[in-house]
Amino acid sequence: MFCMHCGAKIPDDSVFCSKCGKSISGNENEVVTCESKYKVTLYRESQMYLLNPPINISVDGVMNSSIENGGTRLIELNEGSHTFEFSASMRKTKIDANLNSDMQITLSWNRLTGAIVARLSVM
Ligand SMILES: [Zn+2]
Repeated sequence: MFCMHCGAKIPDDSVFCSKCGKSISGNENEVVTCESKYKVTLYRESQMYLLNPPINISVDGVMNSSIENGGTRLIELNEGSHTFEFSASMRKTKIDANLNSDMQITLSWNRLTGAIVARLSVM
């Protein structure tokens, strides 16, 4: 089954969601509080390379958008933990963020290894 709060796939007999920690119950009288939303700014550093493809962005396993050299993207997400995956040209990197304020993720290529570098900072 899927968590009614965060949508994570969890075992059918779960009492609490293993991802967001909220209680899973069929009680319709339960008050579901409105989650706060925060902004995640993705910023890709401008780097000079002959081959410089867009970097694809996935959030929580769902393809979101892509970002060009020197570009920015703004994503609004609910409070809580989220997984960001960045991929391009067979390179892939993944970071987990527990969102409890606005954040920025700065993307760049590592000049030595060619890996995608993602740095998380709190705004
Ligand atoms: Zn959940």
